[in-house]
Amino acid sequence: MKEFKQLEAWFITGSQHLYGEETLKKVAGHSKIISKAFNDAATIPVKVVFKPTVKSPEEIYAICQEANSSANCIGVITWMHTFSPAKMWINGLKILQKPLCHLHTQFNRDIPWSDIDMDFMNLNQSAHGDREFGFIMTRMHKRRKVIVGHWQSESVQQQINTWSRAAAAWHDWQGARFVRFGDNMRFVAVTDGDKVEAEMKFGYSVNTHGVGDLVNMINKVTEKQIDNLCIQYNEEYKLAASLKNGEENYASLREAAKIELGLRKFLKEGNFKGFTDTFEDLHGMTQLPGIAAQRLMADGYGFAAEGDWKTAALVRAMKVMATGLKGGNSFMEDYTYHFDPKNEMVLGSHMLEICPSIAKNKPSCEIHPLGIGGKADPVRLVFNVNGGEALNASIIDMGNRFRLLVSEVKAVAPEKDLPKLPVARVLWKPYPDMSTGCAAWILAGGAHHTCFSQNLTPEHLEDFADMAGIEVVFIDKETKLRDFKNQLRWNELSMR
Ligand code: MN
Repeated sequence: MKEFKQLEAWFITGSQHLYGEETLKKVAGHSKIISKAFNDAATIPVKVVFKPTVKSPEEIYAICQEANSSANCIGVITWMHTFSPAKMWINGLKILQKPLCHLHTQFNRDIPWSDIDMDFMNLNQSAHGDREFGFIMTRMHKRRKVIVGHWQSESVQQQINTWSRAAAAWHDWQGARFVRFGDNMRFVAVTDGDKVEAEMKFGYSVNTHGVGDLVNMINKVTEKQIDNLCIQYNEEYKLAASLKNGEENYASLREAAKIELGLRKFLKEGNFKGFTDTFEDLHGMTQLPGIAAQRLMADGYGFAAEGDWKTAALVRAMKVMATGLKGGNSFMEDYTYHFDPKNEMVLGSHMLEICPSIAKNKPSCEIHPLGIGGKADPVRLVFNVNGGEALNASIIDMGNRFRLLVSEVKAVAPEKDLPKLPVARVLWKPYPDMSTGCAAWILAGGAHHTCFSQNLTPEHLEDFADMAGIEVVFIDKETKLRDFKNQLRWNELSMR
């Protein structure tokens, strides 16, 4: 994934003319120091840009308008160093379309006990100035993140990090294009949904291309390109003996490489950020894309199978959020269960398409029959995944709204070999326990397709859901089924 350094979060400080030039100079000076500290902080991945203090409705409106039209501005961080009467903010906030982070901090960490006087009191008013600002946003139903604490604290900078990652992913979705080859898997409900509503809500478009358009592109791939990619496969993975040059399945490896090259070109030329395919519609293709989908995901493309465009878009967003972090994010499916009462867990996998960004070791590149779809045996990468804290996320279409579900899990390394399982796989234990975690997911209508993440936290997705203005529910160590059912009922009313 590309780095975030071209992306900007604007640091906007609110005040008013009441205090005179001297105080306003100090306000601007302090804002500069804080925004520079954020900009230089290793924990904050985006550029933090200082903006001149806003003191009137006109200045506030103008900066909001400027933020909306700036191509690199992913959101604004606001802070009221002094009191900034909030009716001045109404028209600006009304038009602001970028995510907003309200930083409730103050310049000094401690009260200067022996020096504090009325000049100090006139300057350092955020404890009440930010409350006035908070009121107007609540009154206007403005979704935002509120971060409280001294600006130099690790916790504040970490929360800005999280918010800016969510904002970068939100920025990436605006105007993004996702392509589906073929339609939804026949008769499947949860992967279907309202693409018009999704574009209105999320900013990305989903359009279908007949698989023939892709096949045309695949057929233009040259033998030389295929040679080179097969060499690359051999270098990057443990290639199964039968797939080596000159062996019985080498032609299948070449076919897989050809599919990858064609897909890659199609996505690049169409400026797509992700795609879906379906095993039910592969006319003119010999294999279902396996290694191709896996490697494209590893390069940052969103992907989900069976026409599941909502999950493909979510995989893309989560990959953007996680840019530069250790660990990976992958398309995932709850596949099968281990119901040993002492060691209950889920085996997650898919027919083929798990992203090698979550692999524990160098993947092996193998070929096996698929069993469905009636196509030739597809080439795929097979690997295990490390244990550790992780989560699954899913967006579903409730008919009148979208719901994001986030389920925290503990991934566990497999205790036994799975020598006959020909796909990449992950094992995890849902929180708070298997039966509560799975029951909550099913009660909330969560899909069988998810994005599995090793490096994002529920807070990333909470911030992201707030930017999108959608419902989000969490399943975690604290989840109690009765409360959870009530939460779903109450959300049903409030989100109607
Ligand atoms: Mn599936």
